[in-house]
Amino acid sequence: MLSSPTTPVDVAIIGGGIAGSSTLLELLATHRDTGGEETLRIVVVERSQDVFAGLPYGERSGSSSLIVTPLREFLDEPWLSGFEAWLEEHREEVLRADPRLGISASWVADHAAGIREGRWLDLFVPRRLFGHYLRARVAQEIAATPGAEVEVLTGQARVLRSREDGWTVEVVRPDAVGPTVLAAESVVLAIGSPPKRALAHELREDAVGCYVADTHATSIDALLEDLREHLGRAVGASASGDVLLVGANADALELLHAVHRAGMTRAWDRRVVVLAPRGTPDAWTVRPVRADEYRSVHMVAYTGSTADADLTAAGVHAAIEQDVRDAIAHGFSEQDTVEELKRRTGEVLDRLPWTEQQAFVDRWGNLVYRFYRPTGGDYQRVASTLLAEGRITVERATYLRARDGERGWTVTVDEDGRERELPGAFAAVVNCAGFEGLSTTDDRFLREILDDGVVRATPSDTGIAVDETFQAAPGIFVTGPLLGGNLNARMRFWHLESCHRIIAVAPDVARSVLRRRAHVRG
Ligand SMILES: Cc1cc2nc3c(=O)[nH]c(=O)nc-3n(C[C@H](O)[C@H](O)[C@H](O)COP(=O)(O)OP(=O)(O)OC[C@H]3O[C@@H](n4cnc5c(N)ncnc54)[C@H](O)[C@@H]3O)c2cc1C
Repeated sequence: MLSSPTTPVDVAIIGGGIAGSSTLLELLATHRDTGGEETLRIVVVERSQDVFAGLPYGERSGSSSLIVTPLREFLDEPWLSGFEAWLEEHREEVLRADPRLGISASWVADHAAGIREGRWLDLFVPRRLFGHYLRARVAQEIAATPGAEVEVLTGQARVLRSREDGWTVEVVRPDAVGPTVLAAESVVLAIGSPPKRALAHELREDAVGCYVADTHATSIDALLEDLREHLGRAVGASASGDVLLVGANADALELLHAVHRAGMTRAWDRRVVVLAPRGTPDAWTVRPVRADEYRSVHMVAYTGSTADADLTAAGVHAAIEQDVRDAIAHGFSEQDTVEELKRRTGEVLDRLPWTEQQAFVDRWGNLVYRFYRPTGGDYQRVASTLLAEGRITVERATYLRARDGERGWTVTVDEDGRERELPGAFAAVVNCAGFEGLSTTDDRFLREILDDGVVRATPSDTGIAVDETFQAAPGIFVTGPLLGGNLNARMRFWHLESCHRIIAVAPDVARSVLRRRAHVRG
């Protein structure tokens, strides 16, 4: 089918992660349910070999990479029951850490009782298990929809050009000379989050230090092996064997947990420093859970004593910040406050004047969200132990730049507006910082479609602006994290990272795509 110079398709889905896969599943289900007579032709364009799993749930994660919440919070129904049933069906393979699953045997050993007893909902399960489930489900649904043709095109979408009633999509394939060109009625952009924010660094030709730009470029396991080798070589050459993780977010936790699971403590018995602008995250220490006792003071006072017209996004943020600070001063953990403060935030959002809702989506929502990041399970326990044993230290400062010297990286940071150098040198600087803004992205495809004016960034610079039908331009639909920063009658997203929320928008996106199809065909 994909052999003609320009291949006509109804829908080109760019990106085969959970956002693209869940949209595909909804397109198939709706096409089946509405008894669509004309064949629905869909092409899924995915640059990695790892299709229908996405970055976090397939090969690009690691054998010890876990979901960041207990399973019960990871998915909503009916996905939750579907995945749980799949886990039950594959219990024996999980218990023997069957190599085909690619999961950590040490994780299985630690949780064998829970797995045997089917307590899946309480577990922070290996993310790759969800990838296996997703691939199986997509294959099943394609087979169950004879009225649709679905093809996967391995390659990188590079260019989108407008044409009558649709778009051409140029796809650069690893094994082909020229690009494959699709003529698509609709395009669904499901390309995940923007790339990581790059860290300034100067590498010499005969560099001693190594710089890890992205911990998910290949897989965490491959990264650890490379790092282990590099540290060994550096120490052998009398350079530093120390490691600097820049950022104290989920990527840093994931790496520390992977080191622990891989039994690599010897290689990492040197200094491991985590650079974090806000210092040691409260959630990196395990404390007794007191969420049931926690009650908000400042959010209650602010939202109770302020008329709707006077409520502001900044005011909500300030109240939450004060609540969290007070809670910690009174012996609660930040995590204890999450449920209560999240609920109260949800309640107040509808009361904010529209301009303040816009301000929340543009800026304050992401600042508030810093307090709601889920942390628990094995990741938290490992970080807590490493901190308590003094095997990692956290520096409260912001990364500025690194220079490679004879002993490794010399790193300059900003601490409260003052520049200083971190003591010693580092064999490796690992980028665990957040995502870059769209306006500065160097992702070639995003850059191209932004510069060509095909799409535009939201004011928050975290996503692509869409209308109520998820369209950034007629026939260009967006789903997944790049919906961040959109406010309209149908959506209020300051971010859209969690899996269940991404899945939740898929039916609406699919309906909009099919409505357009019907409209174009008159
Ligand atoms: C390491 C990590 C761990 C996470 N853990 C959790 C978790 O435990 N729970 C949770 O709820 N959320 C988690 N998330 C949040 C995550 O954003 C969502 O769960 C979800 O996976 C995002 O799915 P997606 O399909 O939008 O993006 P992705 O999974 O990134 O899929 C996008 C796909 O598009 C492809 N692509 C990109 N550009 C192009 C192009 N130009 N041409 C062709 N293909 C392209 C990519 O190769 C990729 O496969 C995690 C995120 C990360 C990065």
